[in-house]
Amino acid sequence: MYILTSKNEDRVNGQIVNAVLQLTSEPITIGVCVNQNNLTHEFIEKSRVFTISVLSEDAPMNLIGNFGYKSGRDTDKFEEISCSTGENRCPTVLDSVVACLELELISQMDMGSHTLFVGKVVNGDILSDENPMTYAYYHNVRGGRSPKSAPHYVEADIRTEGAGRMNRHVCKVCGYVYTPEEGDEDAGIKPGTVFEDLPDDWICPTCGVSKDEFEKQE
Ligand code: FE
Repeated sequence: MYILTSKNEDRVNGQIVNAVLQLTSEPITIGVCVNQNNLTHEFIEKSRVFTISVLSEDAPMNLIGNFGYKSGRDTDKFEEISCSTGENRCPTVLDSVVACLELELISQMDMGSHTLFVGKVVNGDILSDENPMTYAYYHNVRGGRSPKSAPHYVEADIRTEGAGRMNRHVCKVCGYVYTPEEGDEDAGIKPGTVFEDLPDDWICPTCGVSKDEFEKQE
């Protein structure tokens, strides 16, 4: 799991990506897939620079929610995020990040819904020796889900889980489903707790929004 950032003149933006791979070693090149509707996609095409920050396993879900489930078109994702500015002038996220790669765009391929951007690494750093977060860890251990803009999103990812259960509430932002049978043990909510009894400061474990953003699933 990674935070991909880019810039456009004096504006910056970033998003979560999970489709990142090293392509060559001489020079070191990296491929990353980005949804063509995303603001970060527009910024990369304009500035031709981007930075990839590698998230650690302990990255909080609201950090992932901030970059993965909001749009930079209507929110400043960097408002409460500590960053540095790289040699490529893109922001490097410093919270819960184990390493960063600064890149210059050298090629791109239209893949339909997404563009495969290929960048040459111009700078990089290791920021901690913690484990990087794989998508499998995010999904299986942390219970994370994928937004519709993800390269591998499938409708069944969200809609078939727990089918037939009563009193389910769905997050309108990310699709996370709260069920009393499961509770939210990471937040100290025991199984058997109905949605109405969740504390007012309870937040969506996937994207970090408040209870107000949930609706009952009929
Ligand atoms: Fe959510």
